Amino acid sequence: MTDLIARRRALLGPNVPTFYADPVHLVRGEGVWLWDAGGRRYLDCYNNVPHVGHCNPRVTDALCAQARTLNTHSRYLHEGLLDYVERLVATFEAPLSTALLTCSGSEANDVALRMAEAMTGRRGIVATDATYHGNTALVSHLSRSNVPEVGFGLGGFVRHVEAPDSYRIEDPDGRRFAAGVQAAIDDLESSGVGFAALIVCPLFLNEGFPTQAPGWLQPAATVARNAGGLLICDEVQSGFGRCGSHFWAHRRQGVVPDVVTLGKPMGNGHPVAGVVTTPQIMARFRQAFRYFSTFGGNPVSCAAATAVLDELEARGLQRHAERIGRLAHERLSALARRHEAIGDVRHSGMVFGAEFVLDRSTREPAGDYAERVVEAMRASGVLLSRLGRHRNTLKIRPPMVFDESHLDLLVDTLDAVLTRLPIAG
Ligand code: PMP
Repeated sequence: MTDLIARRRALLGPNVPTFYADPVHLVRGEGVWLWDAGGRRYLDCYNNVPHVGHCNPRVTDALCAQARTLNTHSRYLHEGLLDYVERLVATFEAPLSTALLTCSGSEANDVALRMAEAMTGRRGIVATDATYHGNTALVSHLSRSNVPEVGFGLGGFVRHVEAPDSYRIEDPDGRRFAAGVQAAIDDLESSGVGFAALIVCPLFLNEGFPTQAPGWLQPAATVARNAGGLLICDEVQSGFGRCGSHFWAHRRQGVVPDVVTLGKPMGNGHPVAGVVTTPQIMARFRQAFRYFSTFGGNPVSCAAATAVLDELEARGLQRHAERIGRLAHERLSALARRHEAIGDVRHSGMVFGAEFVLDRSTREPAGDYAERVVEAMRASGVLLSRLGRHRNTLKIRPPMVFDESHLDLLVDTLDAVLTRLPIAG
C-alpha cells in the first residue's frame, strides 16, 4: 500500500486525490461489491459509473465482442453509432432528436457551451456557486471549487448564482433561484459579455440534491429563455433512470432543455459521453465549429452504451431506483429519530443521503463529523462519501442494482457507526 502511494506520487505528481486516510486498493468488482488486494469485500454505495453493476456481463460481453471485430473512428460508416443514437434520442422528448458522442462529461459540457455560443453569438454562462461540470479550460471555470490558479482568464464569462439548499434556504417554487439567475444575466449583459446559457444539473446533485417540488426549475428556465439564452441540463450524473421517476431528470423539473449533456453511467465505466440537442442547434454548431473527436462514438463505445440501455430495460432498473430510493429515505428517517447528528434526510431516486449538523436548532453544518462517519463506514466495509456546499451530507449513489438486502446492510452499518461516534465526541 505505502509502495503504491509512493509510486503514484513519483509517477503521477503531487496533489493526485485518493479517497480515505487509508486509501483502498481495489482489484475486482461485481454488481454492488468491490474487493481489495487483501481479499476484503466492500459494499459500494458510492459509484454511479458502474450503473448496471460492476463488470456487468452483458456490457463486458458486448464490449469484448465488438473489440474483437472492429474499432475505428466515425469518419468511416458504421451502424453501431447510428443504432445507438437512434435508441438514445428515442428516450428524449421532441425536439431533442440529434446527438454527438464524446469521451467524457467535461468534453460534452465544453461542446454544449460552444453550442450556446454558436446559437447566440454571446459567451456569458450562468452556473451555481457549488457545482462541478468538468475539467476543460473553459468548463473548469464553472466550478468555484475548481477555478485554476493559472489559465486563460475565461472566468470573466461566468457568473455564479447561489445554489439551492432546501434545508436552509426558503424557495419552495424556484422563484428565488430564478431571481438570482436574472441578476446574473443582467450583470453579464451590462458588462458587455452578453448571456449565452444557464447550465445546471436538474437535480443539483453536486450541490447536495435539495428536495424540490416537481417543476421547481421552470421559473429559472423561463428567465434564461426570455433573455435569449439556452438552457443546458447537465445530466452526467442524474440521467439514465437514476432519479427513478423519469429516465431524464429534467422531465421531473418540467423543462425541455435546449441541450442535454451525458456521461458517467453511459458506458458502465467505458469512457463514452455525449450531447443531445435539437437539429437546429446541432446544425448551427457543426457549421460554426469543425468538430471531430477521434474516439467519440467509436464502435466499441457504442456497443457498451447499447448494452447499458438493454440492461436497464431488461431489469426494470429505473422503477427499481424509484422504489429503493423511497425505502432508503424511510430507513434513514428512522435513523434520524435516534441520532441527533442527522439534521435532514433527502433522496432523488437512487441518490440519497443524510445531512449532519452540530445542532438541529441552528442547523450548523458538521463537515468534520461527516468525514469521520465516511472513514468509519469504510473501516466497516461500506464505501460512500460526502458532498454539498458544507461537505456535511452523505453522498450515497450506488450502482442501480443495489437492492433491499444491500440497503439493510448499509443502514445497519450506519446505525452502528453513529452509535459509536456521538456527535459531541
Ligand atoms: N458534470 C457533472 C455533473 C459531473 O458530476 C462531472 C464529474 N463528476 C462532470 C460533468 C465531468 O465529467 P468527466 O469527469 O467525465 O469529465
